[in-house]
Amino acid sequence: MSLISSYEYTEEQNSHFLRQILQFITAHKILPTPINYAISYEYVSGSNQKLMVAVDLLLEQQKTIDEDSSIKLYRQYICDDSFESFNKINKGLESLIKNTRETVAATSQKASDAGDAFEEQALTIASVKNTADLQKAISDIVLETNGLADISKTLKNELDSANQEMEQLRSELVKVRASAATDALTGLMNRGAFDKALNKLINQPNSPEACLTMLDLDHFKKVNDNFGHLLGDNVLKFTAKLLKKHAEPQHYVARYGGEELAIIMPKTSLKKAAEIAEKIRVALGSSRLKKKNSSESIGQITVSIGISKLKQNDTVEDFIVRADNALYKAKELGRNRVETEMTA
Ligand code: GH3
Ligand code: MG
Ligand code: MG
Repeated sequence: MSLISSYEYTEEQNSHFLRQILQFITAHKILPTPINYAISYEYVSGSNQKLMVAVDLLLEQQKTIDEDSSIKLYRQYICDDSFESFNKINKGLESLIKNTRETVAATSQKASDAGDAFEEQALTIASVKNTADLQKAISDIVLETNGLADISKTLKNELDSANQEMEQLRSELVKVRASAATDALTGLMNRGAFDKALNKLINQPNSPEACLTMLDLDHFKKVNDNFGHLLGDNVLKFTAKLLKKHAEPQHYVARYGGEELAIIMPKTSLKKAAEIAEKIRVALGSSRLKKKNSSESIGQITVSIGISKLKQNDTVEDFIVRADNALYKAKELGRNRVETEMTA
């Protein structure tokens, strides 16, 4: 698994970022440490909106990024908590494997000793002369067999408990993996997971008919300005739920960044995608959202939507750019509307 951000840029883009990073760290007198380099990469590539906002704020306040802030930025926006959970699970797994290996090694040593003892007994039995000797040999064998049964019982218990621990680690790993792919505010797929899903779809041999729907809330800055950021967050959560409700089971609903959401729609025609988008647009526009614990309405919230249809030989960028252009067109034509790439 990878908890490290997925960087799926072309070599050419990366060279371009490199030049930008150099300019960026020079202009802001940022020390060229590996951590600052990672921060600058995320910043100039524009793939990490939250980090960009935090860096802009810091540069405004402090003019540069000092060591303390750079570690904070790195922990908070690049390798989040899931990284630590991942390390914890990894350590747990390592020690579990080590303990189990030691138990198996010790047990097999005992089993092999018992095997040697059996061989000796076999020789003794071959040469017994009387019933007393036979009686003795049999009681020795019973003793060894009981010993072996104990060993196998111990091994079984050890393996059972190792199994249980392994199961627990596995389910923790599933949780960490899910949280690394999830946007904390909306619970939708985050940008990294969106990029991966889109890449996978496009690189499938015989990609199915598919559409990409990009949605951007209209005049969202005003909503924040008039009612506060917290209410803005709630509007985003509400919109995310609406998207989930209208999306089909094979669709991927993601937070693309800020107040921009996206739905990857495999096995969906442009006509069907436009129908779904229109339902979302109408549903949001006719929702009467209110401030929490108050009857005061916040007025109409609307969304502009652009849709592209996957073409053969499309790159991820081509597919996104056409949806983005359609979205831009929807904004230009007055917002609160759906545009497909045909009409864009
Ligand atoms: P337009 O119709 O052209 O899209 O106008 P807009 O105001 O929505 O667009 P603009 O890009 O100027 O502003 C986007 C705003 O979205 C600004 C930013 O504060 C807000 N925003 C982005 N992410 C979040 C978030 O997580 N929570 C809240 N409350 N606001 C956010
Ligand atoms: Mg907007
Ligand atoms: Mg926007």
